[in-house]
Amino acid sequence: MTWDYLIVGAGFAGAVLAERLASQCGATCLVIDRRAHIGGNAHDHYDAAGVLLHSYGPHYFRTNSERIVAYLSQFTEWHPVEYKILSWTHGRFWQFPINLNTFEQLVGHPATSEEMERTLAEWRVPITEPRNSEEVIVSQVGERLYEMFFKNYTRKQWRRDPRDLDASVCGRIPIRLNRDDRYLSDKFQALPRDGYTAMFHKILAHPKIEVRLQTGYREASAQIPHRHLIFTGPVDEYFEHRFGPLPYRSLRFEPETLTQEFFQPAMQVNYPNDHDFTRIVEIKHATGQRLPATTIVREYPEDFGPGKEPYYPIPAPDTRALYERYAALAAQETGTTFVGRLATYRYYNMDQVVGMALAEFEKLRAARR
Ligand code: FAD
Ligand code: UDP
Repeated sequence: MTWDYLIVGAGFAGAVLAERLASQCGATCLVIDRRAHIGGNAHDHYDAAGVLLHSYGPHYFRTNSERIVAYLSQFTEWHPVEYKILSWTHGRFWQFPINLNTFEQLVGHPATSEEMERTLAEWRVPITEPRNSEEVIVSQVGERLYEMFFKNYTRKQWRRDPRDLDASVCGRIPIRLNRDDRYLSDKFQALPRDGYTAMFHKILAHPKIEVRLQTGYREASAQIPHRHLIFTGPVDEYFEHRFGPLPYRSLRFEPETLTQEFFQPAMQVNYPNDHDFTRIVEIKHATGQRLPATTIVREYPEDFGPGKEPYYPIPAPDTRALYERYAALAAQETGTTFVGRLATYRYYNMDQVVGMALAEFEKLRAARR
């Protein structure tokens, strides 16, 4: 049989496109993934102690788009969570992201938003258009808070100086003059009630969709007749690294199960200046699971290379220049759609990838008419 669509990748990009094309156009979709599971990096699983873990680092779903919530709500109920995290440095926990409570911790006495604003106005480095991740922070809070919370975390995570990263990287962390201590500012913040994997099973349940796991594109595609290809893997890999490899950052996750209900006071504690890991995640705080045991996960940044997953594209002018060369090839590739975080080399959140997949679906539907 000839499939209408061969879809490479069973993460958000691939799964949403398969669902839309199958349910709205009656198209047959074969979804392949080289991993042994669906969900891409959003996959979650129960470990030996029965703790529901996010397999590839914490995945806090958030969005300002009612359309995206409505779309995903066909496949899941929601467990509302206010994501709250802490930062550990100088021998104590700090409220993070920086807000009025953090400021009080720093100055050691009760303060008002006006006092915080006056003080920050003195500390800020005057830069009207921040061009990189150092400038975006020092222009808002000055050198001292930048060095406490951002400089070394960013160096650890990206193995680059913050000056060599787009402003959007550190700029995605909010800085507030009030007591709002949520990590994220979006209107809708919730986790799929039964987990991401359960949600993906429902997204992919349509009878016109077949999923084949542990199936790599390069090895399998010649034996899979198809009319159109949707590729959600790394774009440089698709073109066999013709212009050289795009750089990515990878991670190593080290889980540890403990026979106590909780290990730390929040679902995530960042370690900007201590240790080789960037954060310890105890996702049980967010999922609301009740269990006598807990599992924490330490996250160590690593270079990308053989046997490693390309978790993060690196947002910076030099990497973008290389990506643009691949994007030009991709634009010429007839019969193929490139979509998702790796195929478009963008540091996108889950909701942005869902939005991108829904937009691509509209283009593919229009092309079928
Ligand atoms: P992926 O989920 O990467 O899926 C692509 C799939 O394609 C993978 O399963 C891969 O195995 C498969 N594939 C690739 N190449 C091939 C090939 N050649 N053959 C077969 N299969 C292939 N987003 C948020 O909104 N909130 C968060 O809190 C958040 N935290 C994150 C934390 C970490 C550590 C990471 C890495 C990401 C985080 N994200 C978060 C981002 C989120 O993971 C992505 O936005 C989303 O999963 C991207 O979906 P995707 O389908 O584009 O890619
Ligand atoms: N960051 C930082 N200190 C922190 C938290 C974040 O310097 O305590 C910077 C760092 O460069 C990080 C980026 O902000 O990579 C984005 O942080 P986020 O928590 O959103 O990263 P993700 O969950 O995507 O890894």
